[in-house]
Amino acid sequence: MGKSNVYWMDAHSDSTETSLVAKMLTVFDAANLDELVKPNDMVAIKIHCGEWNNSAYLRPVYARALADRIKELGGRPFVCDTTTSTYSPWGSRSTELDIVLTAERNGFSSATLGCPFICADGFIGTSDIRIDIPEGYLLKEAYVAQAIAAADTLITLTHFKGHGMGVIGGALKNLGIGGQSKRGKFNVHMGGHPTYGFGAAGTFHPEAFKGKANTPDWEIIENCCPFGLWNIDENDELHWSRDKCANCLGCFGVVGPRGIVDIPEINFDAVDVAIADAALAVEKAVGRDKVGYINMALDISPRCDCANHADIPIVPHLGVFASKDPVAIDMACVDAARRSVGMPGSATEVMEAHHSGDRKFEAAAATFHGQSEVATINTGHENGLGSRDYQLIEVERAAPDKYRFPYDRRPSRERFREKFIQFEPFPYDRHDGHGFDRNVEVDIEAMKVHYEDATNGHHVVDESEVLAPGDDD
Ligand code: SF4
Repeated sequence: MGKSNVYWMDAHSDSTETSLVAKMLTVFDAANLDELVKPNDMVAIKIHCGEWNNSAYLRPVYARALADRIKELGGRPFVCDTTTSTYSPWGSRSTELDIVLTAERNGFSSATLGCPFICADGFIGTSDIRIDIPEGYLLKEAYVAQAIAAADTLITLTHFKGHGMGVIGGALKNLGIGGQSKRGKFNVHMGGHPTYGFGAAGTFHPEAFKGKANTPDWEIIENCCPFGLWNIDENDELHWSRDKCANCLGCFGVVGPRGIVDIPEINFDAVDVAIADAALAVEKAVGRDKVGYINMALDISPRCDCANHADIPIVPHLGVFASKDPVAIDMACVDAARRSVGMPGSATEVMEAHHSGDRKFEAAAATFHGQSEVATINTGHENGLGSRDYQLIEVERAAPDKYRFPYDRRPSRERFREKFIQFEPFPYDRHDGHGFDRNVEVDIEAMKVHYEDATNGHHVVDESEVLAPGDDD
């Protein structure tokens, strides 16, 4: 496979045509993604709607602008995401009911998007289609969310960031996890796998459970598993039916920190590989020549948008990327992050991986030392999904008038002169025509002086003066 083209604009903005929304549309056209949309096509825009209280996910305006562009092209857009595994006892997107509520709270609704927001894999997450992938490196089948598989065209609109399990959360993960149904996610997460599954590879330490009397919150150990695989018997001993583990991840944060099970690194490595196979299955379901990719490398948090929080970005904004190749576009983003310096105060600085050339995601995003930020990319290259060899093509800014407010393109006098005569907004009849009651002149320079300059350096609050929580009592 030869080099793939990746189209890119940096994140600087000084005008409406260099706004990040305009740049997203500009690279969409430059990469010829517009050619993927035919009149009457049902076009899925796959996003990540963000977990409850996450704040790094893409602003809904990007999906809205893309939906508007697709409508211009004659397509019928819908924005979609899928139900998640019950990866936390308190997840917010595990059913259609929950994900629609969370998506609305995060700003994704038909009112904001100008098109429907759809949970692509049904009410519980079992609405899917099985896809054979004999080319797969690890997976030989995948379960693709129905609404994505049924779409005529798929635009994968990805917030490029880190991921604790996947190391990077890019286009490949947006489809390899986000394009799978719930049962598809169990497959990718290695549920039931005889070598890489959590049930097979996790080291169980039942002695780490010290009995109900010594474990005030013991009930959460039984309640964290939706399959009921954790049980405390009448002798106060903990049992794990590991052979039935679906790898929903629901107990990781409960039994892991208590030392009850050692979370196996090999499980995470295998998932990173499987993601690329599952992403290939999505392309096969929709059509290999009917999928386009946009990576918005902005607010690059170390954890995925599936976390219920968002940490300081690990590198500055890297820009806006578009391609028809998910492997190439993710590789380009990883390379850009590697070239960049890390963000002060972020996890890259904490991990001393903030220099240009450092592997930022392995240091700041991965859960285990030894996970690779290119494992999914390499697998996608290996299974034929795409190419990690790419040509990065910088795209020119659009013409200044292209992305102006579209609903009325007349200049101000034509739009407002008559209205301002009818509803005069400036009171020319008051204060000798000056309109408002104000002082004629004040000492403006005095208001521009910094407090420390006026007090010989005093009154600058430094770290030693910041009160810790509770110190103000
Ligand atoms: S035992 Fe398996 S299925 Fe049950 S919560 Fe843990 S990961 Fe999920």
